[in-house]
Amino acid sequence: MGINRRHFINLTSLSVAGFSIKGFANNAKPNKTNKPIVISTWDAGLNANKGAWAVLSTGGAALDAVEKGVMVTEDEKNCCVGLGANPDRDGFVTLDASIMDHEFNCGSVGFLERIKHPISVARKVMEKTPHVMLVGEGAQQFALSQGFTLESGELSDDAKKEYLNWLKKSTYKPIINIERKQSTTQLDAKFQAPTKLSNGEWNHDTIGMVALDAHGNLSGSCTTSGAGFKLRGRLGDSPIIGAGLYVDNEVGAVVATGQGEDVIRVAGASAVVEQMRQGKSPQEACKFVVERIRRIKKEKANDIQVCFIALNKNGEHGSYALHKGFNYAVHSNDGASLVEAPFIY
Ligand code: ASP
Repeated sequence: MGINRRHFINLTSLSVAGFSIKGFANNAKPNKTNKPIVISTWDAGLNANKGAWAVLSTGGAALDAVEKGVMVTEDEKNCCVGLGANPDRDGFVTLDASIMDHEFNCGSVGFLERIKHPISVARKVMEKTPHVMLVGEGAQQFALSQGFTLESGELSDDAKKEYLNWLKKSTYKPIINIERKQSTTQLDAKFQAPTKLSNGEWNHDTIGMVALDAHGNLSGSCTTSGAGFKLRGRLGDSPIIGAGLYVDNEVGAVVATGQGEDVIRVAGASAVVEQMRQGKSPQEACKFVVERIRRIKKEKANDIQVCFIALNKNGEHGSYALHKGFNYAVHSNDGASLVEAPFIY
């Protein structure tokens, strides 16, 4: 499933600063499996991939790599992911995460508070319980029972600043419930994630990672603070297996970032995997599902960002975004690179 010359030229013509064709050049070898390899969303993925590569390059399992990899980002202070991230409308950081291995084992947590590594809690859910998903207080209790520490719950400096700013701009007065309800009706565009910044970039609160190890096994992970200033209790796509993340070891692995509600609507990651199963390349499969979302959203597609990254069984990778500005990081034996994703708008 290599790429033909015309396709290759199309990809190179998408070239912008930071774009590397290393990964695609590799895809041009149709019968050779490019492994091990890890890819992850946004430029924060460059660092995260290093954590994953330490596992993959020494013959480690993709499952360990995708956990270790995104832990790097969860650890970063004042970062978009983990406890340093933006809070919900009431000022609390609530985290979602999911993980899936090559044998359809999966685990996730949602609405988890004051725990540093939600991805590792998700893995414990997968390995130590008969369940797939734990949320809220129960997820926190479970984390504590597994030896995780309860953190302070203080906002990071960046998040504090952003939250105070947001409170100023919004009419939201976090005093009594009725006001909370009133402000809900004005919510609309405000809590969409990622939102477009004045400099044209997209803010984002998620890292998703998929990897193929030297043994030929795929795994994936996703961890997020969700949409900034979301309604309390809101879950996005990231902890939902099949929406934010999906892995089928016979076909490929996919992770999503962007407006979670619209990824859930089309069972996004699973839909991309199914397109690869039918013979599409990772990029074609991502594009197919992004276009479906555009059709569903009609003119509202202007206001949201949705992006997928995909890795198939041969180690070929691809991506597609609704809007310009999404990139993803690749790390393989060819080195590290940041790839600008193709897009509709
Ligand atoms: N998909 C995430 C969510 O909706 C947000 C993001 O990717 O930035 O929770």
